[in-house]
Amino acid sequence: MAKVTLKDVMKIYDGGNIAVKDFNLEIKDKEFMVFVGPSGCGKSTTLRMIAGLEEITEGDIYIGDRVVNDVLPKDRDIAMVFQNYALYPQMTVFENMAFGLKLRKYSKKDIIDSVQKAAEILGIEELLKRRPKALSGGQRQRVAVGRAIVRKPKVFLFDEPLSNLDAKLRTQMRTEIKRLHNRLDATMVYVTHDQTEAMTMGDRIVVMKDGLIQQVDDPLTLYNKPVNKFVAGFIGMPQMNFFDGIYENSVFKSKDGINIELGNKKIENGKNIILGIRPEDIGSLTARQNENNPVIKGKIEVIEPLGSETYLYISCGDHEIISRIESGVDHYAIGDKVSFPVNINKAHIFDGETEKRI
Ligand code: ADP
Repeated sequence: MAKVTLKDVMKIYDGGNIAVKDFNLEIKDKEFMVFVGPSGCGKSTTLRMIAGLEEITEGDIYIGDRVVNDVLPKDRDIAMVFQNYALYPQMTVFENMAFGLKLRKYSKKDIIDSVQKAAEILGIEELLKRRPKALSGGQRQRVAVGRAIVRKPKVFLFDEPLSNLDAKLRTQMRTEIKRLHNRLDATMVYVTHDQTEAMTMGDRIVVMKDGLIQQVDDPLTLYNKPVNKFVAGFIGMPQMNFFDGIYENSVFKSKDGINIELGNKKIENGKNIILGIRPEDIGSLTARQNENNPVIKGKIEVIEPLGSETYLYISCGDHEIISRIESGVDHYAIGDKVSFPVNINKAHIFDGETEKRI
């Protein structure tokens, strides 16, 4: 297996569209690295450059210690799984999985052994004689993964491989791929726009926006210490609540009259700041535990009971904020006026101008 290194990588498409800039990253050997970000942020372009399917405009990409900028995709020792799994319809599952090995002139025995082993790992042994049209979406996805496994590549690259599956199957395949990673002990790079997928699968996650890396960290660090407002808003469901305002004499004052005691911070008086509070830090049991916590007052507009927890949409000032409370904390009705304590120790503060974490 191998590490993958990107040094000062940049991609400019014909026409001058800068898709990826200043991309520096070391993906460790056997790491599961996820690229996440909104559509168009450059995730796929970066993955395709690692695969060799897209030329690099500037910079270097290493697989192991070898610069691969000019190495053909087939010689890079990688395997890629795409969103549209593109199985050959006229071939059986066995033939689909064996195809790459045949091209590389593996012996018949090696091909049979490799396909059999991959099929066992994925639990698709009984499907080997079927053609793709006789498979469900999830089964096809497994075959596509199988096609990658049989080659025993140094690095697996996944480009939104689960997007075409329904929600339940997606969750199931997510766990399967994660298990596969543990079992194969392989370096994997996985592209998705879905933050839940990123958080549940990645050892580390690269959050991207407009072709630039925003933050590279493990899931919980991203969640607890986002480096800027963008990452704070992108990671976490429901989204973090944001308030624009100023810091004055240890109080946060929003433009629409919400005042929250922040305590003494190393922030100059009168500075524009953005206060970020996650939904679970408003009105939840932990927020209620500390009597000194400041409160936010508002009116309940929408209630979403999910069973184990409830989302409350609360209007306060010009804001609509979301509170996420444990079931059974209290019963609320639409129109109720509430005073919810805020877990102020968990508040995030960002610079009003640069939007960077303070
Ligand atoms: P993501 O995978 O994050 O959705 P992409 O890497 O596909 O984003 O695209 C990044 C940017 O590059 C987008 O602005 C996209 O429109 C542009 N882009 C992607 N492929 C091409 C191409 N072949 N030619 C020109 N621009 C492209």
